[in-house]
Amino acid sequence: MIEERIFVTRSSMPTFNEYVEEIAPLWQSHCLTNMGVEHKKLESDLKERLGVNNLALFTNGHSALECILEAMALPIGGEVITTPFTFASTTHAIVRKGLTPVFADVNPNNLTLEPESIERMVTPRTCAIVPVHVYGNLCDVDGIRQIAEKHGLKVIYDAAHAFGVECKCADGAWRSAAAFGDAAMFSFHATKVFNTIEGGAVCFKDDALDPLLSQLKNFGITGPEDVEFVGGNAKMNEFCAAMGVCNLRHIDEEIAKRRAVAERYWKCFEGVPGATVFRPGEGVKHNYAYLPVLFDPEIFGATRDDVFDALDSVGVGARKYFYPLVSDFACYRGVYSSDRTPVAKRAASQVLTLPMYADLPLEVVDCICDAVLGCVR
Ligand SMILES: *Cc1c(COP(=O)(O)O)cnc(C)c1O
Repeated sequence: MIEERIFVTRSSMPTFNEYVEEIAPLWQSHCLTNMGVEHKKLESDLKERLGVNNLALFTNGHSALECILEAMALPIGGEVITTPFTFASTTHAIVRKGLTPVFADVNPNNLTLEPESIERMVTPRTCAIVPVHVYGNLCDVDGIRQIAEKHGLKVIYDAAHAFGVECKCADGAWRSAAAFGDAAMFSFHATKVFNTIEGGAVCFKDDALDPLLSQLKNFGITGPEDVEFVGGNAKMNEFCAAMGVCNLRHIDEEIAKRRAVAERYWKCFEGVPGATVFRPGEGVKHNYAYLPVLFDPEIFGATRDDVFDALDSVGVGARKYFYPLVSDFACYRGVYSSDRTPVAKRAASQVLTLPMYADLPLEVVDCICDAVLGCVR
């Protein structure tokens, strides 16, 4: 029996005392933002964790994505190939930076962009690819790199879901999701695997982008009496950075707990016809960010919406994440047709993400699974 309503996610937090200890010095310094002590500490801790030389923090992942798109100096109106199976942020960042999104389709195995579909959408106006490591499932990074090299395109990953994900590369080395593409954006929103309450970062290859990103997130200020760019304000404050410093100390434990939850779910859905889960393959350290299940009504015997309603009635909040496709939102409808990305469209109609967070008790997972399977019993 589920006593209190279960939400689809629950933010990870350090203990109250650990956080208070981290922020206590701010009462001496009175330096609350503008790249202070906690900001510097988090930046350097994250560089080490992700194995990168260049990383810039932002007030949120969306601003990080907008700023890196701007810093890349892509041609106004240039076409950017991306996925419709994502959060609105990915597409909005492209449009808000004066670029034109072009939707390619995803592969059915992990719902990330299919390289062949990307290549079919390349035109002389294409300037970049913005793929998404959706649910923490890594894209075909080699396939995407080959297309980008062949056509001279920038690759900016939306790695909002992929903090903590690593894979073993052809040379035998393990690399984090930050290692791929010209840049990778991470979101540290409260609902993500690693959070700074609100926050984000971008990792990037080209050292020259470092000063530019610093200016773009701080009004374009280049010196005490100089403003060279029309920048915005997207700086991470000290309280958010301190939350990140604390949460980062516990990230491995958090991911290990998520893994136990994921494995409990997967075991329950093993051999259930028409209920597809996404298990990471060999050579991948996953972060278990979400628990998506595709319910094929013809085979499973109930629709995704039936499952959603059944869970809701026993006090469990699931999410239709990602439904509808971004290309079907009112702001893009009519311009795009989701019929052109049939795999993404089908996934959007069948997907349900089930509650997933580090402290979700395994007995509750069992109750959730019972409720799901109860739809067809
Ligand atoms: C959360 C998210 C973002 C935006 O990140 P914020 O930190 O919330 O601004 C972008 N893309 C995807 C896929 C996301 O899930």
